[in-house]
Amino acid sequence: MERVVNFSAGPSALPLEVLERAQSELINTRTSGMSIMEMSHRSKIFEGILQEAKTRLRSLMNIPDSYQILFLQGGASLQFSMIPLNLLQKDHQAAYIMTGSWSKKAYDEAKKVGQATIVASSEDDKFRSVPDLSSLKLPENTAYLHITGNNTIEGTRISSLPNIGDIPIINDLSSSILSEEIDVSSYGVIYAGAQKNLGPSGVTIVIIREDLIGHAPKSTPTMLNYETHSKADSLYNTPPTFGIYMINLVLEWIESLGGVKEMEKRNRHKAGLLYDAIDQSNLFKSPVNKADRSLMNIPFTTGNDELDKAFVKFAADRELLELKGHRSVGGMRASIYNAMPVQGVQRLVDAMNEFEKTHAVSTIKD
Ligand SMILES: *Cc1c(COP(=O)(O)O)cnc(C)c1O
Repeated sequence: MERVVNFSAGPSALPLEVLERAQSELINTRTSGMSIMEMSHRSKIFEGILQEAKTRLRSLMNIPDSYQILFLQGGASLQFSMIPLNLLQKDHQAAYIMTGSWSKKAYDEAKKVGQATIVASSEDDKFRSVPDLSSLKLPENTAYLHITGNNTIEGTRISSLPNIGDIPIINDLSSSILSEEIDVSSYGVIYAGAQKNLGPSGVTIVIIREDLIGHAPKSTPTMLNYETHSKADSLYNTPPTFGIYMINLVLEWIESLGGVKEMEKRNRHKAGLLYDAIDQSNLFKSPVNKADRSLMNIPFTTGNDELDKAFVKFAADRELLELKGHRSVGGMRASIYNAMPVQGVQRLVDAMNEFEKTHAVSTIKD
C-alpha cells in the first residue's frame, strides 16, 4: 500500500525521509552491529545521539545557555503535575490561562498540588478564541503563569504574551514546538510531548531556565524533580532511547530544510491554503476567531453532522485520513504539522472543492 496523507493530531505523520533513514539504520545503527533499541543508554553511541539532539534543538530554537534541555517521559500530561510540584511554593499561587481542554487538565493537576487560579479564560466563547492578555494583572504572590501556546483540540493559538515582569511564563507547546520562530527567553519553561511535531510518543522535551531548577520540596519523588534529570543530564534512569534517536533525525531533517524559519514559512503557506479554502467555501466554515487561528490544527465543519461524516468518508476514499474532529468538538480537524507536505494540504483543498460541488446545492452559509 502507498503512504496515505495523514492528518492525525497525534501521534502524527513523520517525515518520510526520517522513517526511511531509521529503517535503513534499524538493525545496525552507526556500525555498532546492533539496533539503537538494543543498545545501552550508557553507550558512547547513544550518549552521542543524546548530545546531538540537544545541540540541534538548542541551535534550531536559539535556546540560551541559561536554559537546560531535558528528555523526560510521562508525556506532556506529567508536566501538568511536575510544573506545580517543582515551581509552586507554599504561600504562592499558580495562574492559569484557560484556552481549552489541555489547559483545563493542566489547571486541575495544579490544584492537586497547591493553590491555582484561572486568571483569564475563553470558555464563555466555547474556546473559539483566546483571551486578550494585553492588560493581564496577576496576584502579588503568583509563582508562574501557565499558558497553552497552541490548542490542539480547539484550533487556536496564543500569539502575543502578557507583560508580567519577572513572573515566569510556562508554555505547553506540545502541538506547535518548532513550527514557528519563538523567543525562548520569554519563558521560564517550555514543554512538549514529542508525538506531534518532534518524533514518536514516549519522549517529553522540557526546556527550563536554570534558576527554576532545584526548588522542589524535599518530599518530591525523585523522578518528578527536575533537579534529578538536570543533574543526570537526562540519564538518571533509562530514557526512551529510540524516541530520542528519532527526535535527533527529525531535528536533522528540519536543519536540512533551512531550520525553523523555513518551517514557519511552509506552515504559514499550508495553513493559508486551507483557511482560504474554508473562507471562500459556501459549505465549510471555521469555528475559530480569525485572529486566533492555529497554524497546526485546523478545525472546520459544514454545520451538519451527516454532511461532516460524508465528507470524512469522501476524503478517506481519496486517502486523506484522520480528519474526524475531536470527540469534544465534532466536525473535521486537519492537523498539519511540520511533516505534512504542502501537496497533502492541496489534496485536501481539492477534495473539499470537489465535495462542495456535489453536496452544496441547498446549503447556505450563515
Ligand atoms: C497532546 C497534548 C497534550 C498531552 O500530551 P501527552 O504527551 O499525551 O500527555 C498536552 N497538551 C497539548 C497542548 C497537547 O496537544
